[in-house]
Amino acid sequence: MAAYDFDLFVIGAGSGGVRAARIAGQHGARVAIAEDRYFGGTCVNVGCVPKKLLVNAAEYAYGFADAAGFGWNVGVTSHDWTALQAAVAKEVGRLNGIYRRLLEGAGVSIFEGRAVLTDAHTVEVAGQRITAERILIATGGWPELPDQPGAREYGITSNEVFSLPVFPKRLVVAGGGYIATEFACVFNGLGAKVTQLYRGKQILRGFDRDIREFVSEEILKTGVDVRYNTVINRIEKSGDCLLATLSDGSVLECDAVLYAIGRHPMSRGLGLEEVGVELDGTGAVKVDEHYQTSVPSIYAIGDVTNRVNLTPVALNEGHVLADRLFAGLEGRAVNYDNIPTAVFSLPPVATVGLTEEQARASVGAVDIYRSSFKPMRHQLSGRDQRTMMKLVVERATQKVVGCHMVGADTPEMIQGIAVAMNAGATKQTFDRTIGLHPTAAEEFVTMRTRAPDPLPQD
Ligand code: FAD
Ligand code: NDP
Repeated sequence: MAAYDFDLFVIGAGSGGVRAARIAGQHGARVAIAEDRYFGGTCVNVGCVPKKLLVNAAEYAYGFADAAGFGWNVGVTSHDWTALQAAVAKEVGRLNGIYRRLLEGAGVSIFEGRAVLTDAHTVEVAGQRITAERILIATGGWPELPDQPGAREYGITSNEVFSLPVFPKRLVVAGGGYIATEFACVFNGLGAKVTQLYRGKQILRGFDRDIREFVSEEILKTGVDVRYNTVINRIEKSGDCLLATLSDGSVLECDAVLYAIGRHPMSRGLGLEEVGVELDGTGAVKVDEHYQTSVPSIYAIGDVTNRVNLTPVALNEGHVLADRLFAGLEGRAVNYDNIPTAVFSLPPVATVGLTEEQARASVGAVDIYRSSFKPMRHQLSGRDQRTMMKLVVERATQKVVGCHMVGADTPEMIQGIAVAMNAGATKQTFDRTIGLHPTAAEEFVTMRTRAPDPLPQD
């Protein structure tokens, strides 16, 4: 008789949990998983996937406008929010089914309901107690709402934005990170009048300074009203509208207020602290380099550990953990170097490696190559939209340590650059690579002029 019902019990069927459960099952482990909301987690249901489809929808607005410069007579266009929602929901439903079938195909037992820990080897879900030799916490994160009058009654988060029953013609977005910037651009593209409020001086903190400045200019040109050093103080309802009172005293009349002010780890009420699992000050589950918590039988991966909150990272962590625990692949480890990432704003930002500021602080002297230009398409479209590219090179070794871009298709380019950087590419490797003409990407292998070193006071 086995001592436990399962070898592994996974809490949360999101990106990380599904990958860990599936791979462990394929390695022959007896695996169960609990999910209380939706298969595929945040990414599939209220994150990357529906967000990207909305970005695609918004891009058409610019496509129609650009087309006239190429001889097209597009005529009058209009957008049907309900039709888009239905199409997105259909695709999300298809992916939910795929995630469930992946689990079933790997022999994973599925429990639908909210799971809580009752001891270091026992989980309670849907009135049942199940034991497992190991338990994996993969419960992800949840959006924050501020404690300010009206925020909880009238504000929405990225969880609700996809299912708004009526298209918000006037939208206020609070925040200056990934989610705020992406949705400000999406709703602006779909025809809303969007005001984005950021509490600091420049959106996208953590990204390269030149890139932040460049993309905020480009976004302003598309019509998003980005206001700095401004926050919401309260929201009230007035008839069919909302009134957002801002910190500068002004009042914005709008149809919806989207808070995108960060996410917290989903670690509370799970019984973690009761069984001795340590959390940090943000509520993130503390883990060692093998994703083991302070309780040896309990592991955690993905957003609940609040480290690099991106889907491919959660997927990789789940995969590596399952390989280590159930296939004896002790040498497997996630490579956290040069993780590419994109903000799917319009235009998008794509980046990998160190910002110029990080590189100066960590590797010392750097050579900077920077280029900005009007892409070929916009010579004809007449649209005032520019692209920017930047390489950060460690001066002593000539290794490319950072690559940053703003412009159409940049997320599609950066993945290949990340591969080159992980292979140790130097500036000379870039220089002796023949360009692909005519593309924007060829600029990366043709930039020859170093930017002047900054003055000491910069
Ligand atoms: P999740 O995918 O959140 O999965 C956790 C699962 O656990 C959920 O299904 C939840 O219902 C379940 N759960 C929680 N508690 C319990 C419980 N007690 N019992 C049972 N089930 C439970 N990342 C990118 O890489 N690219 C993007 O473009 C991108 N866009 C995003 C856009 C938005 C709007 C958001 C919000 C996020 C985006 N992300 C993106 C981030 C990405 O979605 C997350 O990093 C990723 O989903 C984390 O995976 P995870 O497995 O840790 O958690
Ligand atoms: P972020 O942490 O990226 O941004 C939060 C923003 O809200 C920041 O601009 C922050 O300002 C601001 N803020 C924080 N608290 C307050 C407050 N009380 N009042 C006003 N503003 C506030 O979080 P997001 O919610 O945008 O996204 C969460 C994570 O999800 C991302 O960090 C990323 O890991 C992931 N994600 C990835 C995407 C992708 O890969 N394309 C897309 C979407 C999400 P400040 O900068 O001053 O702290």
